Amino acid sequence: MISLRDVTKRYGNHDAVSRVTLSVDAGETCALIGPSGCGKSTLIRLMNGLITPTSGSASVDGGDPVAARLKMGYVIQEGGLFPHLTAGKNVSLMAEHLGRKVDLPHLAEIAKLPVNLLDQYPNDLSGGQRQRVSLMRALALDPPILLLDEPLGALDPMIRAELQRDLRQLFRSMNKTVVLVTHDLAEAAYLSQRIILMRAGQVLQDGSLSELQNRPSDPFVSEFIAVQRSLQEMSA
Ligand code: ADP
Repeated sequence: MISLRDVTKRYGNHDAVSRVTLSVDAGETCALIGPSGCGKSTLIRLMNGLITPTSGSASVDGGDPVAARLKMGYVIQEGGLFPHLTAGKNVSLMAEHLGRKVDLPHLAEIAKLPVNLLDQYPNDLSGGQRQRVSLMRALALDPPILLLDEPLGALDPMIRAELQRDLRQLFRSMNKTVVLVTHDLAEAAYLSQRIILMRAGQVLQDGSLSELQNRPSDPFVSEFIAVQRSLQEMSA
C-alpha cells in the first residue's frame, strides 16, 4: 500500500532521511519510533506527498503519493484544526468541497466525541477533544490509510491513555493501513505489532517488540529500550 524505495530527503547538506526502503501492506499497522530529529515526521510527510524525495521514490497504492492524497487521513500533534471554524465544519470542510456527504454523528461515535461539541470552536475544546475532532476529520472521507504524526504527543497522561485505548480499538476494528509516529515505545507496542526504530535518518530495526528486545540489530536498539524502561521505572 505504501512503498518507499531507497529514499533520501536532504535539507541543505543534511540528510533528514537517508536511503530508507520500507513498505507497509494494506491493513497493516506500524509505528515509527526513535529519538527527536531522527526523521520520523519527514518519513510520514514523504508518504503523504507533502514533501518529495531528493532521491529514491515514494508510492502509495502503486502511484504518486500526491495523487493518492484523498486515500490518506492525516493527524498531527497539535491537530491542525482551523480555529475560525467549528469542530463539525473542520470535519466536513474537505468532503463538502468535494461534493461528498459526511455522516457527522457516525464519525463522532467512532472518535468518541460527544456530538454536542461539534458546534464548538477548537479553542473551546480540550486537547483530547481537539484530537478526536482531528481524527474525525482524517476519517471523514473514509480513507484506507491513516497517517498519525505524534497524535497524542501534546496530551496529559490520563487523556493520553484514554485516547490510546480508543485508537487501539479503532485500529483493530477499521481494517485500515496505519502509520503512527511516536517517541514512546510503550505506546508504539500498545498500538502496533510492528515497530520501526529509526536513528539519524535511517531505519535501524523493523520488527516486533520482542524481536527488538531479543535480537537487537545494533547496540542502540538495546540502549533505546533500556532508556525507555528506566523512564517508566522512574515514573512508576
Ligand atoms: P522527528 O520527526 O524524528 O523528530 P524530523 O523528521 O522532524 O524528525 O526531522 C529530521 C531532521 O531533519 C532534523 O534534523 C530536522 O531538523 C531536519 N528537518 C526536518 N524538516 C526540515 C526542513 N523543512 N528544513 C530543514 N531541516 C529539516
